[in-house]
Amino acid sequence: MDLHESEDVVAFRAQAAAWLEAHAPRKGSVDDFTIGRDRAFVEGCRRWQATLFDAGWAGISWPTEFGGLGRTALFDLAFRVQQARFGVSGAAFDVGIGMVGPTLMVHGTAQQKERHLPSLLRGREVWCQMFSEPGAGSDLAGLSTEARRRPGGWVVNGQKVWTSYARFADYAILLARSDRAQPKHRGLTCFALDMRTRGIEIHPIRQMNGAAEFNQVFLTDVALPDDAVIGEVDGGWTVANTMLGSERGLAGDEWPGVPELIEIARNRGLAADPLTRQHIAATFVGQEILRYLNLRVQSRLGRAEPVGALASIVNLFFADHLRRSATVASSLLGPELLTARSQIGLAGRWQYHLLTAPSVRIASGTDEIQRNILGERALGLPREPRPEPVAATLT
Ligand SMILES: Cc1cc2nc3c(=O)[nH]c(=O)nc-3n(C[C@H](O)[C@H](O)[C@H](O)COP(=O)(O)OP(=O)(O)OC[C@H]3O[C@@H](n4cnc5c(N)ncnc54)[C@H](O)[C@@H]3O)c2cc1C
Repeated sequence: MDLHESEDVVAFRAQAAAWLEAHAPRKGSVDDFTIGRDRAFVEGCRRWQATLFDAGWAGISWPTEFGGLGRTALFDLAFRVQQARFGVSGAAFDVGIGMVGPTLMVHGTAQQKERHLPSLLRGREVWCQMFSEPGAGSDLAGLSTEARRRPGGWVVNGQKVWTSYARFADYAILLARSDRAQPKHRGLTCFALDMRTRGIEIHPIRQMNGAAEFNQVFLTDVALPDDAVIGEVDGGWTVANTMLGSERGLAGDEWPGVPELIEIARNRGLAADPLTRQHIAATFVGQEILRYLNLRVQSRLGRAEPVGALASIVNLFFADHLRRSATVASSLLGPELLTARSQIGLAGRWQYHLLTAPSVRIASGTDEIQRNILGERALGLPREPRPEPVAATLT
C-alpha cells in the first residue's frame, strides 16, 4: 500500500483548510459548539453537517451513487484532521454517517437507502446504536431484548444500556432476539427504529467527565413495521458485524494532541526541559503511529475490504495513546487541570479528555476482548472456551 500522498490529496487538504478558515468557528470562540455537551452539542453537529452538505464537503469517501464525493479514505482523513483544528465536530454522526450509512449500503433495501442515506449526509438524521444490554456487552450475542412477529410487523420488549446520544437521536439501529430456539449468534435481527415510536423510555446516565451522553433505554411493546428489518430476518449478527467492523476501525481525531502539549510547555517555560521534551516526543511518535494505522484501516474500508484484526490493533493503540497523552498534559498542567471549571481553554479541554480517556478502553469492545480477537484471529492461538447455547442461558 502506498501511503505517499498524491498531489490531489495535498491540493484537497489546502482547499479544505482554506474553506474551514473561512467558515468554521475557532476553538474556544463563542461559536465553538464543542464546548457544550449533550443537546447543544448534538444540535451544533446537525448544523455543521448541514453546512458541510451545502458546501459540498459531506460524505467525502461515500460512493457518488449514495450522494458522496466518491473520494478515497485519504481525502476523508485529510479533511477530518483539518476540521479538528476548529470549534466544530461531527461526533453526533459517528454512528449514522460512520457506521449505519455504510451498513445500509451493504444490507439495506433500496427503499431504506433512499430514505436514510441522503438525510444522513444532510445532517437531518442522528442515529444511535442499541446493541449493549445490562447482561450483554462483550458477549453481545447473548442479548435478550426480544422481537416477536405479529401481523404486519414486530413488537419489541427489553432494555438497552450505554446507548450514546439516544435522547437526541431520530433513529436507532436495534439488535434484538427474534428466535430463541436458534443458537445465539443466529436468531438475532437488526431493525431501524424510529425513536418517536411509542413505548421507548430513555434515562440519561451522567458520566465522570460531566456529560450525559449515555442512556438506559427501556422498550415496552414497541411496534415496528416489517420494512424496518435491516438485512435478513434472524441474520442480524451479520449486519451487526458489518457495523462493528466500521466502529472498531475508527480512531477519533478530535482530541487535543501534540500542538496543544507544545503550547502548554511553551507557556510554562518548559519547552527546553529535557523530560518534558521526551514526553512530548513520545506522544508525537504515538500520534504518528496512530495516523498510519488509521490510514490502513480507512484504505481497506474505502476498498470495501474487511478491516479484520487491524481494527483491534487501532482500538488498543488508540486507548493507550489517549491515556498516555492525557497523563503528559496533567503532569504539565498540574492543579490547573484538576481545578478547571469549564472547557474553554486548554486546561479544561485536557481535563475533559483525561476523564474521558478511560472509557475508550471499554467502548466498541474492551481491551481484553480486542486482545482475544488478536490472539484468535491474527495469531492463531487456541480459542477461548465458548459459553453454552442461548436457549440454555436465557431461560
Ligand atoms: C464511551 C462508550 C460509548 C458506548 N456507546 C455505546 C452505544 O452507543 N451503543 C451500545 O450498544 N453500546 C455502547 N457502549 C457499550 C460498550 O459496547 C460495552 O460497554 C462494552 O462492549 C463492554 O460491555 P460491558 O460494559 O457489558 O462489560 P462486560 O462485557 O460485562 O465486561 C466486564 C469486564 O469483563 C471483561 N471480559 C468480559 N468478557 C471477557 C472475555 N471473554 N475475556 C476476557 N475478559 C472479558 C471485560 O474486558 C471487562 O473488563 C459504549 C461504551 C462506552 C464506554
